[in-house]
Amino acid sequence: MTMSEAQAYPIDQEDLDLLKTSMQRLQCATSLLDGFHRGLFGFLHSPKRTISVNFPVEMDDGSVQVFQGFRVVHNRVLGPGKGGVRYHPDLTVEEVQFLAAEMTWKCALVNIPFGGAKGGVVCDPKVLSEDELRRITRRYITELGDNIGPNSDIPAPDMYTNAQTMAWIYDTYEVMHPRRNNRPVVTGKPIELGGSFGRLEATARGALFATQRFLEQTTLCGFQDLAGVRVAVQGFGNVGAIAAQLFDEAGATIIAVSDSQGGIYDERGLDIEAVLAYKRTHHTVVGVPETMSITNDDLLALDCDILIPAAQSNQIHKGNAACVKAKLVVEAANGPTTPAADEILFKNGVYLLPDILVNAGGVVVSYYEWVQNFENEQWELEVVNRKLQHKINKAVDRVVDRWGELSAEKQHEPSNEEVGDTGPCMPVDLRTAALVSSIEHLVKVTLSRGIWP
Ligand code: GLU
Repeated sequence: MTMSEAQAYPIDQEDLDLLKTSMQRLQCATSLLDGFHRGLFGFLHSPKRTISVNFPVEMDDGSVQVFQGFRVVHNRVLGPGKGGVRYHPDLTVEEVQFLAAEMTWKCALVNIPFGGAKGGVVCDPKVLSEDELRRITRRYITELGDNIGPNSDIPAPDMYTNAQTMAWIYDTYEVMHPRRNNRPVVTGKPIELGGSFGRLEATARGALFATQRFLEQTTLCGFQDLAGVRVAVQGFGNVGAIAAQLFDEAGATIIAVSDSQGGIYDERGLDIEAVLAYKRTHHTVVGVPETMSITNDDLLALDCDILIPAAQSNQIHKGNAACVKAKLVVEAANGPTTPAADEILFKNGVYLLPDILVNAGGVVVSYYEWVQNFENEQWELEVVNRKLQHKINKAVDRVVDRWGELSAEKQHEPSNEEVGDTGPCMPVDLRTAALVSSIEHLVKVTLSRGIWP
């Protein structure tokens, strides 16, 4: 398929309902579990708690605007809810519920004692001042009240929130709960406020570690390390920009990057430091001297070895998946690939390392920050990175092993059966294997705790 054919296939011909996607993937994974306790399906699928709040905020011009915020705890079997807070104009409660479930799978997969949660405010940070963002954050956290806490639900940065946002969250909670150690109520804080060294880069570093481990452990992609491997990165925010830097330092050649305004390409490899400097002054990567301008669609279809989607969800879909020429897709973003695209990539022999494995580095180092805060300690960067690498390596090994076992079992089965009314189950890919590993862990813990009372 050529790019023009892909563009002629509009994305809205595919059902992009995130909750349906989540249901379908869960059905596929649980159908592969031996002796799965069917009654647990609804428990695993339904969010435990969904909070929606509306609150007024005084804007810089003196007017008052009402904002809507959400906080969803999906599951708390393994521990308190954990997950980011995102600020985005198109945010919906369904998206927050989907992302909260992803957090549950992610924490279970990397074996940290947290359940899944997610939150956010419907707003456009690009048109808000720093003062307005501070007032929105303080009011949102006040509205959530004791629904967040160091042992109940712990927020962190996500799309368009950062260490400054986390400092406001901490400060607001601290005002409401004086005279105790409140630092573990939120992670991703500034270093001087109890943040962890390495948290800012953790998601991208986890993506690098996951990729390196996968390449070392398998011979599937035709290369076993990153030396000279051509990489395209979609998204140049916290995750994409740092991933481009780290993959470059690890020996890869970054041939293209993009942001919301478009992309740039240089087959000889981009000078990532120069791109970062250009982005700081021009607020976009588009226009870096001696690079070719490309669209985001062009970037996804580039002839490269590794494609890293590190931007929004549903970027690789039914209409463009057949154009992907990379040998390996590394999902640094949450939910960048749709189920229809998964199937096309699988059929075309494109391997995909799933989001719950690739971008778990962020929440792993959030967990380390939480532990450091309880101990009133600050670990050295080398200690954090060494622990992170160990965690990610173990998770990759578990997924690769489970994938081998499931693929062998599947070969003895007659065909893909229909699963409920959500469509046929995918052949076993790495995403399914990762989800199966998470669910197995969750089911074991749920049943050993017992259904109360
Ligand atoms: N927002 C990040 C994620 O989606 C990190 C969450 C956390 O650190 O709690 O994984």
